[in-house]
Amino acid sequence: MNYFRPTPYDKYGLLPMEPGEEEEIASHMPHYLFYRRDKSNVDFYCTACHNRHYMHKSEFSETLGHKRRGLCPACQEAVEFRSMCFGRKTLDAWENFVIVRVESENEVHLECCGARLYFEEDDMEPRYDLFSKAYYELRPGSAQKYANRWCWYGGYDWTEIKTLGEPHFVSCFGFSDNSYYPICLERLDKTFLRYALRDYKPSYLVTYLSKYAKHPNIEYLVRGRFERIAEAVVVGGQGIYINWRSTDLKKMLRLDRAEINLLQGCSADEYREYISIRRHLNKESGIVDHNRIARYWTEFGYFDDRIGTISTQSGLTYKQIMDYCLKNVKDRGSRAKSEFLCDYRDYINDCIELNYDLTNRTVAFPRDLHTAHQRTMKAIVIKQSREMEERRAVSDKLREWLPYVSEEKGLAVILPKSVAEIVEEGRALSHCVGGYADRHAEGLLHIVFLRRLDDLTTPYYTIEVNTEGRMVQCRGYANNAVYNDGEPKPQEIKDFEAEYQQYIIRSIKEFKKKRKKKARRSA
Ligand SMILES: [Zn+2]
Repeated sequence: MNYFRPTPYDKYGLLPMEPGEEEEIASHMPHYLFYRRDKSNVDFYCTACHNRHYMHKSEFSETLGHKRRGLCPACQEAVEFRSMCFGRKTLDAWENFVIVRVESENEVHLECCGARLYFEEDDMEPRYDLFSKAYYELRPGSAQKYANRWCWYGGYDWTEIKTLGEPHFVSCFGFSDNSYYPICLERLDKTFLRYALRDYKPSYLVTYLSKYAKHPNIEYLVRGRFERIAEAVVVGGQGIYINWRSTDLKKMLRLDRAEINLLQGCSADEYREYISIRRHLNKESGIVDHNRIARYWTEFGYFDDRIGTISTQSGLTYKQIMDYCLKNVKDRGSRAKSEFLCDYRDYINDCIELNYDLTNRTVAFPRDLHTAHQRTMKAIVIKQSREMEERRAVSDKLREWLPYVSEEKGLAVILPKSVAEIVEEGRALSHCVGGYADRHAEGLLHIVFLRRLDDLTTPYYTIEVNTEGRMVQCRGYANNAVYNDGEPKPQEIKDFEAEYQQYIIRSIKEFKKKRKKKARRSA
């Protein structure tokens, strides 16, 4: 929804400065010292102390120079020196500000603007223009953000923005720095937000104030010493659900008196973990005794995510997993627990992959997890290699056209009999064909062995052929790299490569024709 906001902005989006704002804004802007010197004196004007001074040059301690930086000898503020005789029309500076403006006790506006410092003609006092980018309208229980957008028909239009969050100062002037200085924060003292900033310095002030306005009972969280939760809530939630309809801390946080005492001062994560562990113990195991829940939480709060993963995958309850861990980890340090839970998660994953019955207690909670895990890992390797062999056997049915014998050259191309043979070939010839075994099994490429006819068992050369029947590479020991103990590829092999390439081009065509015929016949 667009609507025009006639005041207090003019049609360029300029926001008039109100009393009490300029000084604070100026304090965040750069200061300049305009100087002129003759033989013995320096005549200068300082925008930090707003005074013109005449000083003997021996008193002027800084080294003067156009665009140098230093301290004003009169007020000791950091300034940039500028020669008075140069024009100041091109001199300007920008900063972003968020100005607190109070409409009434129950309505606060946060005006977000980019301020430009500039000079007019011969004036040595800077002026400031405020270009409005966004403003937030805060009332008890509500917060609304409006952004300022330039319109082609002239002037600015204000657009309601659905989400709160920090303001953007990016503008047609090309500014992308979104940091800002808050101005006139003390004005909040006379409003409904008077407690929002007590002893608290939020990193995202605008987000914090607008969320605080929207949920005024954040104040109860802060006062009840749950300020870390309050902060997490205002900057982004993180899976924390507060019952905002209540002003009773117990109802807001869904905790009873004893739990409030236990959790006071805790972080948002700790709170979330407590609620999660309590919910699981309640629901799965019927445990309601807060002391017992608290004991589990102190032992396992930090591991809530990991336990959750194991529990969803295995169907085991939180209590079962935690009890199993407590029984097996002698050292109660969190490192030992972390390692145990890691191993256990891997073990459970293995069991699922191997279709083991996790409702069987001896499977789900082995007496010796380490040994049991070693066993499942071995079983997985065997299962995977068996599956890979099966896939290779299927792929081999499409490889009839690859084997070749050249009696004349005493060479033969043969198919690997197993995936393991490809790995062994890579080891024997010191090259990386082992890494292709998986894709060979899938039939995505073809690995074939080039061997001497009189010794078909000893690895010699390895060839990769793509599914189109093109030879991609043919590699001997150590990739035929001389610097790597290999030998350059002999001419004999190069000749054979050409001969083999010609052969497979022909034989793949015949193979495809034969398959088509066969398919037609069976159809
Ligand atoms: Zn000064």
